[in-house]
Amino acid sequence: MNAAPVIPIRAASTGCSDAPVLRERGQREVFCGLTGIIWLHRKIQDAFFLVVGSRTCAHLIQSAAGVMIFAEPRFATAIIDERDLAGLADCNDELDRVVARLLERRPEIKLLFLVGSCPSEVIKLDLSRAAQRLSARFNPGVRVLNYSGSGIETTFTQGEDACLAALVPGLPATTAGAPIELMVVGALADVVEDQFARLFRQLGIGPVHFFPPRQANRMPPVGPNTRFLLAQPFLADTAQALQARGARRLAAPFPLGVEGTTAWLQAAAAAFGTEGQIFDAVTAPARQRATAALARHRAQLGDRSVFFFPDSQLEIPLARFLSRELGMRLTEVGTPYLHRSHLAEELALLPEGTTLSEGQDVEKQLDRCRAARPDIVVCGLGLANPLEGEGMTTKWAIELVFTPIQGYEQAGDLAELFARPLVRRARLARAPERPAVLQEVT
Ligand code: SF4
Repeated sequence: MNAAPVIPIRAASTGCSDAPVLRERGQREVFCGLTGIIWLHRKIQDAFFLVVGSRTCAHLIQSAAGVMIFAEPRFATAIIDERDLAGLADCNDELDRVVARLLERRPEIKLLFLVGSCPSEVIKLDLSRAAQRLSARFNPGVRVLNYSGSGIETTFTQGEDACLAALVPGLPATTAGAPIELMVVGALADVVEDQFARLFRQLGIGPVHFFPPRQANRMPPVGPNTRFLLAQPFLADTAQALQARGARRLAAPFPLGVEGTTAWLQAAAAAFGTEGQIFDAVTAPARQRATAALARHRAQLGDRSVFFFPDSQLEIPLARFLSRELGMRLTEVGTPYLHRSHLAEELALLPEGTTLSEGQDVEKQLDRCRAARPDIVVCGLGLANPLEGEGMTTKWAIELVFTPIQGYEQAGDLAELFARPLVRRARLARAPERPAVLQEVT
């Protein structure tokens, strides 16, 4: 095999490692953590997510998942109504009744999550006690766990973090003294997971476990011989819970683009002692394909400016990819939370002088965005349409979470997600007599 040289993954300087960060704690425009159910229910195929919330929560889930509902969806909302809010009914009795009816009707459910919301928090419904009580009742057929997806406590992708962190205490223990094992942490599309599994196998890295697994009864073991790679940058609580079980995190950038994917795989290869020529030879074909796919989008994206509003916590790895592999200029990179140690390798690769912000004061940030007039704005749904109305080109941040974007084979698709709105805007500009259209779902 004709191996391509491995890209030297290092910055010319320390990048943004020590860069100042603008911290804002004003009004924010971000989805709550319930949104994570949309991708998690598809990942763990025998799990069910029961939101204990209001009609608003039910509407959010149904409209966000509307296009993906199957004949038998694996999520639902137990509505807390006025009687419950006024303390006129015993919510626990009602919850027990709802769960019993659900499990009787859906015997395939092996793992049930009670997902807390703003209303359940406001009335201080203790879902952790409810989960223990229901687990004892339905054991061993069904495990019942709880986590919070409330907008008071979580943003958007933090729902996945809370869900996975809730699973960690129940993971089986690894055998004492066993050789090291790799755990890839964070929900990935099945197709991406299969590609990574194949690469790890070819690199001689194993055993490899993916967390969350596709089936509730295939939870990965964890212990002092576990080395884990985060596949997503928003899993701070999960990482902490795994470390409390003795696992060790492999520091790496995230697997976005050729460079990020290579560095991410290299971190695992170094831990398992399979660096050097084998690594080059195994990854060369995929690297070459991905590099060629990116080249097609460079002309479109090179030297274009991008502004990130805080949304998914993917912003910093995405900014690194857009700037280093596609030549885009970063005007501001906003993120809901900046986890310095999990993002250390990413920050070092960002161009020096990039404006970083954490949290949000939406009006002030909108003013900065208008002043910068970037070529493309990455933001949530609530901001995208008004900004499009002001003549800016936007990309919905939520698409970047729903779409498979990790790994070599998806690098071109990831670049295309940014190129497509610019192409559409250019076409609209050439046809001024046509009415402007809102951003299409891609
Ligand atoms: S959890 Fe809170 S923020 Fe989320 S949909 Fe329900 S009420 Fe709204």
